[in-house]
Amino acid sequence: MLHEFEFRAPRTRAELLGVLADHGGLAKLMAGGTDVIVNLRAGGIKPRVVVDVKQVEGYGDLSWSDTDGLVIRPATTINDLLRMPGLRDRFPLLVACAHDLASYQIRNRATVIGNIVNASPCADMAPALLCLDARAVIASQAGEHEVPMRTFITGVKRTVLLPGEVLDRVVVPASSVGARGGYAKLKRISGHDLGLVAVAVHKHDGELRVAVGSAAPTPVLVSGLKETDDAATVVAAAQAAISPISDLRCSKEYREHMVGVFIRRLLREVA
Ligand SMILES: Cc1cc2nc3c(=O)[nH]c(=O)nc-3n(C[C@H](O)[C@H](O)[C@H](O)COP(=O)(O)OP(=O)(O)OC[C@H]3O[C@@H](n4cnc5c(N)ncnc54)[C@H](O)[C@@H]3O)c2cc1C
Repeated sequence: MLHEFEFRAPRTRAELLGVLADHGGLAKLMAGGTDVIVNLRAGGIKPRVVVDVKQVEGYGDLSWSDTDGLVIRPATTINDLLRMPGLRDRFPLLVACAHDLASYQIRNRATVIGNIVNASPCADMAPALLCLDARAVIASQAGEHEVPMRTFITGVKRTVLLPGEVLDRVVVPASSVGARGGYAKLKRISGHDLGLVAVAVHKHDGELRVAVGSAAPTPVLVSGLKETDDAATVVAAAQAAISPISDLRCSKEYREHMVGVFIRRLLREVA
């Protein structure tokens, strides 16, 4: 039987932060619910209050400006992002990752921010946001503070968020516009599936960035790469940065091997 909880759907950010301050760790935020509802039904979480963020004024906004960059709010779904005019030209890697997340129907509910806060090692939006140097703006009744995406996810299903805090927006800086990028995701079946391993490659202004999903407790941004590095150097750096495991979906060795295959393929594609 579904665990009983109170359901709140605040209309303003002040009201939302008030509910979170009142209930602390007993409140569970919900956006699209594609992770939260699965966990509630399975009994994995037993919150006293479920707090829907979708009705909060301004939380459905998705905006772009040359100064502020791309600002993604808590109710922005993956399909909202994919429908945004001009996004593919500005951030092809973000579009590639979003396209690979689940099915069209799930993308209609699933939000970008829910995907990041859920903090799965295979979160499809994480590799793009890591490569694009995105920032997470966190709000609570105490005010706002910002952390780089590369430090936001701290472990499997863990982030820096504290009770009482909401991820208010994710900002992708305008300085990342013009980058070339590609995403490759290994799945057991064609069509939608969680990644067995996934690689994002991003080239911009002489810089090379590689992010790897499903190959460590968190999505990994490989540091210290240069655009002039040859494929063997990039593969070696990525394989040193990850710590894949063997599980029922595939072996550690297969994951390591496919990271190399994908990096070589994507480097050719973005060359
Ligand atoms: C059938 C199916 C297929 C899937 N396939 C994929 C896939 O291929 N790739 C993939 O990456 N994921 C996949 N998922 C997982 C899921 O759809 C994504 O993680 C999704 O983006 C989560 O967004 P949501 O809005 O539904 O989050 P929710 O379920 O509403 O929330 C997820 C987490 O984020 C927290 N949260 C939400 N908003 C905020 C906020 N503003 N501030 C703080 N915390 C917040 C919630 O408390 C919860 O912990 C799949 C899920 C299903 C059911």
